[in-house]
Amino acid sequence: MSDKSQCIVCQKTDQQVPIVTFKFKGQKYGICSEHMPILIHKAQELESLLPGIPASEESF
Ligand SMILES: [Zn+2]
Repeated sequence: MSDKSQCIVCQKTDQQVPIVTFKFKGQKYGICSEHMPILIHKAQELESLLPGIPASEESF
C-alpha cells in the first residue's frame, strides 16, 4: 500500500500533524489542519499543487 498521508503544502506526515485526506480528480491528497483553510478559502493558491483546481470566486 502506498497510501501516503502527507500535507501537499508543507509535506508534514500524519506522524507529525493531523492530516485530512481528500480526493480531487481521482487523485488522493492529504493536507494538514494548518493548511486546510488555504484549500477552503484560497484554493487558487494551490493550483501548482492541484492542477485544475477551480479558483473560488468572490461572490459577495
Ligand atoms: Zn501543511
